[in-house]
Amino acid sequence: MRAWVLGLFVILASHPFAPAANPEPSLERIKKDIDFLAGEECEGRGLKTQGILKAGDYIATAFQDSGLKPAFKEGYFQKFTVSGRGKLGTPNTLVLKTGDVETELKIKDEFTATGASGAGKKSTGLVFVGYGITSAEAKYDDYAGMDVKGKTVVILRRTPKADDKKSPFEQTGDDSLASLTSKIQNAIAHGAVGILFVSDRGTAAKSDPLMEADRTSGSFFDGPVFHVKRTVIDELTKAKKDKTLAEIEEAIDIDLKPFSFACQGVTAETEVTITRDMLPTRNVVGVCEGAGPFADETIVLGAHYDHLGRGESGSLATKDAKDKTHFGADDNGSGTSGLLELARRYGKMKNRQGRRIVFVAFSGEEQGLFGSIHYCKEPPFPLEKTRFMINMDMIGRMVGVEQKMGDGLPKKDRLVVYGTGTTAGLDKLVDDANKSFDFKLFKIAGGTGPSDHSSFYAKKIPVLFFFTGTHKDYHKPTDTPDKINIAGLKKVADFVQVFADYYTTTEETVAYLKTKGGGEDPTDTTPRSSAGRGGPRIGIMPGNYGEIDGGVLVGGVTEGGAAEKAGIKEDDVIVSIGGLPVKNIETYMAAMSGQKIGTEVDVIVLRKDKKVTVKVIPTK
Ligand SMILES: [Zn+2]
Repeated sequence: MRAWVLGLFVILASHPFAPAANPEPSLERIKKDIDFLAGEECEGRGLKTQGILKAGDYIATAFQDSGLKPAFKEGYFQKFTVSGRGKLGTPNTLVLKTGDVETELKIKDEFTATGASGAGKKSTGLVFVGYGITSAEAKYDDYAGMDVKGKTVVILRRTPKADDKKSPFEQTGDDSLASLTSKIQNAIAHGAVGILFVSDRGTAAKSDPLMEADRTSGSFFDGPVFHVKRTVIDELTKAKKDKTLAEIEEAIDIDLKPFSFACQGVTAETEVTITRDMLPTRNVVGVCEGAGPFADETIVLGAHYDHLGRGESGSLATKDAKDKTHFGADDNGSGTSGLLELARRYGKMKNRQGRRIVFVAFSGEEQGLFGSIHYCKEPPFPLEKTRFMINMDMIGRMVGVEQKMGDGLPKKDRLVVYGTGTTAGLDKLVDDANKSFDFKLFKIAGGTGPSDHSSFYAKKIPVLFFFTGTHKDYHKPTDTPDKINIAGLKKVADFVQVFADYYTTTEETVAYLKTKGGGEDPTDTTPRSSAGRGGPRIGIMPGNYGEIDGGVLVGGVTEGGAAEKAGIKEDDVIVSIGGLPVKNIETYMAAMSGQKIGTEVDVIVLRKDKKVTVKVIPTK
């Protein structure tokens, strides 16, 4: 946890948490909502289904019954369009022209077009911009001094010194610098109109495979986003700088100084043929007005209600299960039910003093946070007066976790809370509120992450995001209502209410704080070796956390993973890998980093107090 200065002394809400006199009606209502939203009738709430319309209508009716007002003249719905994944047609062409010499590149052999491309023809100058990275933290900018407005840029994949753990790009802890999406966004920010990606030395070490057309999604560009073979760019760099591409990469690595240059006299002529589904959908927005001096200010409570339908983009189901209904009970029938429960509680309060609460059930989240981005673009109440946002996404799988293995103490309910560093005093507020809930909290300061709060944090609004953890049914048809911990879900809703109460009534200034991170998942349960991404792993999910010295409890095994194949079972305790003792996650990771992908290793587990040796072949 990041250390930060508390500017304010924060006291707990003037409405301390008081459990409802009779919690039973809550549990019944929540179960009814989940059963409907994640039932057959709603068809997995995919953007291409009729079921999402039924879900939207259900939510609007529930808002109305709760006493919430519609946010718009037309009613509760905020309509918008989600652009789907691109389908490439023909032709897609790339011609590099130097003077009178024209080189038409061969599609599939020398280049491919990615689905992030935008349709149309272009003829532009060409600029080599190294890795296409601008990072203040790494003190590195490939675009420094370069004019790329209206040009096509050539961008290397990954980062300088990508395999060096001590590289400043690693130390920023922001692995998104290497992502194609952030490189595309950075190119757009600098005014480029076309991108030619080229694999870096490491990625192309053995061969130089071209990316699949659907490699990127969610980022849309106004021009070509092509992937070009290194041999093509090599000719360019040799002609312009008398250096091979590898020599340029080497030069950048030596002192981490960019090596960007305009390819004088070279024109890139491109044509892209691509179609994209435009899917209409709706946010559902209900309003609970407050009263008193803060009545014209807003806090937003949100949860996305869309899911993957019958295996829309984002499904993790195996091929044969892909077109089955993805019920999305936890993701995010659970958060939506929590939202409806809070709407019912606030909706019936008479003359509630404090800020307005806007309840938003977002759509388009799974395809790229489209609903929350749209809300922030066209908010029914100004964002300048929106003080706080609370998001619930996947709050239906509360599990008990041990504090310390073998301590004999009862397990505590696990809850992940993101955004605790996004305004002063919030971290302490969360801890104070937890005194009456006794969750095993995993607090993460950052406000950026893979759900809708991220869109609000990007608008400099402090956020909290609640999550009970990932599981093996994530984004699969098996995420069904029977697996939801209803009492756990209600407990999260009760906890959320403490913060909603606080931020609707506080007289303190609630100022945005910039924090790093938020994308990490402490419950992502497939620890890798300390070699990090791509290092050897065996596919287990630890069932215990914190300071443990009795080994690593297997909370579950990844389907089809190395551990499952080797016969490691849930509730086994791993105590040794390859002769090295495993006492906790740290020693587990250390032992794993000594292993090789594809090379068998002896793993000793305790199974019902008996030592069993299994032979495991770690995978990537
Ligand atoms: Zn999801």
